[in-house]
Amino acid sequence: MRVLVKGAGVAGLTVAWQLYRHGFDVTITERAEKVGLGASGFAGGMLAPWCERESAEEPVLALGRSAADWWEAAVPGHVKRRGTLVVAAGRDAAELDRFARRTSGWEWLDGAAIAELEPDLAGRFPKALFFRQEAHLDPQRALSALTAGLEEARMRFLFGAGPDVARYDRVIDCTGAARIGQLPDLRGVRGEMLYVETPEINLSRPVRLLHPRHPIYIVPRGRNRFMVGATMIESTDDGGITARSLMELLNAAYTLHPAFGEARLTDTGAGIRPAFPDNLPRVSEHDGTLHVNGLYRHGFLLAPAMAAEVARRLLAEQAPSERRAS
Ligand SMILES: Cc1cc2nc3c(=O)[nH]c(=O)nc-3n(C[C@H](O)[C@H](O)[C@H](O)COP(=O)(O)OP(=O)(O)OC[C@H]3O[C@@H](n4cnc5c(N)ncnc54)[C@H](O)[C@@H]3O)c2cc1C
Repeated sequence: MRVLVKGAGVAGLTVAWQLYRHGFDVTITERAEKVGLGASGFAGGMLAPWCERESAEEPVLALGRSAADWWEAAVPGHVKRRGTLVVAAGRDAAELDRFARRTSGWEWLDGAAIAELEPDLAGRFPKALFFRQEAHLDPQRALSALTAGLEEARMRFLFGAGPDVARYDRVIDCTGAARIGQLPDLRGVRGEMLYVETPEINLSRPVRLLHPRHPIYIVPRGRNRFMVGATMIESTDDGGITARSLMELLNAAYTLHPAFGEARLTDTGAGIRPAFPDNLPRVSEHDGTLHVNGLYRHGFLLAPAMAAEVARRLLAEQAPSERRAS
């Protein structure tokens, strides 16, 4: 079966990888000049289904708990299994209790345990929640590694031009926010983020700082770089970060540690998270095309489960003579 995957973000690349593993003849087409220039390139890369349950439905945990294993198998060495630390400033301490009530898989840490885990946060917070089972990766590096693996496997990438879809038995549309207005009920949720660089602080894992209006997270990227994210705005505007969002993200980073006040701002950006009304992703069929969309805040977390679902459907359609074990 010849399959065309449209879109080389996290959805398209994971689908391509999964189909390749099952022996399908796959071509990927991407309208940009390289992979990961959509929402996927702005992601924090947190594989954090227990934390996400604070605001997400149960399937996010059920479908996302094995994501770190999938990524480790696909791009060995890219997954960091160091958990997530969740803290709140003194005036927002009630937020921690609320977060604990809405989630599972955590343990309480006191100040000494926080200092042991993240020495640079010593003395800054009296207690924290630690989600030991969670992991993270660097989205851009992980997608580059996945692409390199696919190229090594001789998968065809077509950048820029749209191919003749009639040449393919199946088209899998993974074009994310580009389908807003075309796929029923799909909407955009703008996420702004920034990068700072400072040698003054070291973190080993994502740290979430709770706040009633502006919760943020900081993900260490190595070599003194930190990703700070992210806003959640109901909008399809993918223009640059606003001054207000920049101030809010930087203020929160400064609250986490004053060393961020001296950091260099090295990059900013905004991506559009594609989302359905229930904020859960779907594999759906429209006019003969299979769509993988609605990954919302959970592209890296839930794309592997969506890719497995696509593979299940295509294997079921395939003639017995075409099947081979992966
Ligand atoms: C600031 C921010 C932080 C985030 N943090 C996390 C996180 O920590 N963990 C997590 O799991 N998720 C996170 N997410 C969510 C995640 O990034 C998204 O869910 C995910 O990127 C959506 O992936 P996608 O492949 O559907 O879309 P995209 O990444 O947007 O990819 C779609 C691709 O399709 C291409 N395309 C569009 N039209 C066409 C066409 N006609 N033909 C060919 N190609 C086309 C586009 O150029 C693009 O490359 C975050 C998102 C944002 C914005």
